This record gives sequence, C-alpha cells and structure tokens, in this order.
Amino acid sequence: MCIFCKIISGEIPASKVHEDEICIAFKDIHPKAPIHLLIVPKEHIAMISDLQEGKHDHLVGHLVNVANKLAKQEGAEGYRLQFNVGEKGGQEVMHIHMHLMGW
Ligand code: AMP
Ligand code: ZN
Repeated sequence: MCIFCKIISGEIPASKVHEDEICIAFKDIHPKAPIHLLIVPKEHIAMISDLQEGKHDHLVGHLVNVANKLAKQEGAEGYRLQFNVGEKGGQEVMHIHMHLMGW
C-alpha cells in the first residue's frame, strides 16, 4: 500500500484538515509555504496522466472546490494549486495529490 493510501486508511497518522467521500486533505510534512496542504483522492491513482476520460471527469473539479474552501478556512490571501506529474515533473509520491500552497 502506498504512503497516502496508508494515511487514508488511518494506518499512519497525518494532520487531517478535511475528509469527504471522495478525498482527504492534510498538512504537508515538509511545508514549502506558510500554508501547505495536500488534497488527495481516496482512490489510488498514481498520477494525473492516469485519469480516465468518462470515469474521472469530476475528480479534479472536486479537489479544486475543496482547495478553495480550505484556502478560505486557513485564511490564505493568495495561493497556488499544483500537481507534479511523473518523476521528471517532480512527483515523489505516486498517488495523485494537489498541493495547496498559501500565503
Ligand atoms: P510530490 O513531490 O508532488 O510527490 O509531493 C509529495 C509531498 O508529500 C511532499 O511535499 C512531501 O513533503 C509530502 N509528504 C510525504 N510524506 C508525507 C506524510 N507522511 N505526511 C504528509 N506529507 C507528506
Ligand atoms: Zn495510494
């Protein structure tokens, strides 16, 4: 099981800030901004380029909706939403996650 699947199942702890039927969000363990959250679909999908048309059409939209709410909740005045895709794209954990970095 991948590290984010273990966080989703509760096997390893995380500072969770949101959970719904589709995704969870928790604090990045090595924050690169004053607010740094990871928004992670519960379904194990390795990377954005593996998303299937038809099956996953609403997933990224949902993650963005959650990010907007969390950014407001955390008091961010501005923020960046980022997916790293593939090793060469800087992706270290091979389970889709959206970075929310806020200031
Ligand atoms: P990426 O390079 O896009 O794959 O980002 C992976 C992110 O996951 C990095 O910013 C790490 O700091 C973060 N990370 C790795 N393990 C954990 C963990 N156990 N809890 C919270 N964040 C983590
Ligand atoms: Zn996983």
